[in-house]
Amino acid sequence: MKIGFIGLGNMGGPMAANLVKAGHEVTGFDLVTAPPEGATRAASAAEAAAGADVVITMLPNGAILQAVAAEVIPAMKPGAVLCDCSTVDVQSARAVADKAAAADLGALDAPVSGGIGGASAGTLTFMVGGSEGSFATVKPLFDIMGQKAVHCGEAGAGQAAKICNNMILGVTMIATCEAFALADKLGLDRQKMFDVVSTSSGYSWSMNAYCPAPGVGPQSPADNGYKPGFAAELMLKDLRLSQQAAEAADADTPMGQLAAALYTQFVETEDGKGMDFSAMLPRFEKRSR
Ligand code: NAD
Repeated sequence: MKIGFIGLGNMGGPMAANLVKAGHEVTGFDLVTAPPEGATRAASAAEAAAGADVVITMLPNGAILQAVAAEVIPAMKPGAVLCDCSTVDVQSARAVADKAAAADLGALDAPVSGGIGGASAGTLTFMVGGSEGSFATVKPLFDIMGQKAVHCGEAGAGQAAKICNNMILGVTMIATCEAFALADKLGLDRQKMFDVVSTSSGYSWSMNAYCPAPGVGPQSPADNGYKPGFAAELMLKDLRLSQQAAEAADADTPMGQLAAALYTQFVETEDGKGMDFSAMLPRFEKRSR
């Protein structure tokens, strides 16, 4: 397949590299980063998109996505699919899908879970909104870049799934960290705490797969000085998107709201910027009364 790939950062770079490795013809564009070996470098987003069967974007936010989409949609050939893998707000995803449809193009919102490790290993999970036809066109590429692609519904459904998943993640990480800090105060050994909770009803991905306590559970950023991993500021971005979506949809999400407030404080006024999002545990320890 002929693929245009726009946004070759921490995630987009390795995703594009996996498509090249699988034998696809990739033309890449990024304002800063060069495309991976084996891909052609385009001089603009429009040049990367021209003639492509599928154009993939992996960009920082919805405003940038909308600006890039305005440039690439007129350059794309009719019937091609614009597939955005960034995490953005639901409204931006739907606006891009509408503009693509008006130009006789398919569009998918296909954000990912799995982080930089999953992008390199080709083991991402894609959560996808858009038509059945567009999903079927891009599915072989999802299978190269990831281990699972779930078609969640119409335009925006992929971003909705991502935002809801990461709201649960933010809330459970905070709950796991504050529980460890309380357990410390109660004199409970951290390994015993892990052994009990990871096999009891308090278990979660945050405890079992990404334990925020160093030396306990499987290898995680806590064992590497809380170097990300998944940075606190990215968690904050996703929690803010969840609260923006909740407000627009008139949904009551008090725990998500509190998680967003705590990560705002952690990133903006404490020392959380540049730390993994599981560094909430040392934060709670420091703030203990
Ligand atoms: P990144 O900042 O490393 O990459 C973004 C890239 O977009 C940069 O290389 C930047 O130069 C490029 N860019 C910005 N504006 C551009 C433009 N107008 N034209 C072309 N290129 C442009 O970010 P990332 O970590 O790769 O994340 C990308 C997206 O994936 C984000 O939406 C993020 O929320 C999401 N995401 C990231 C992770 C993660 O662990 N890093 C996990 C899941 C989802």
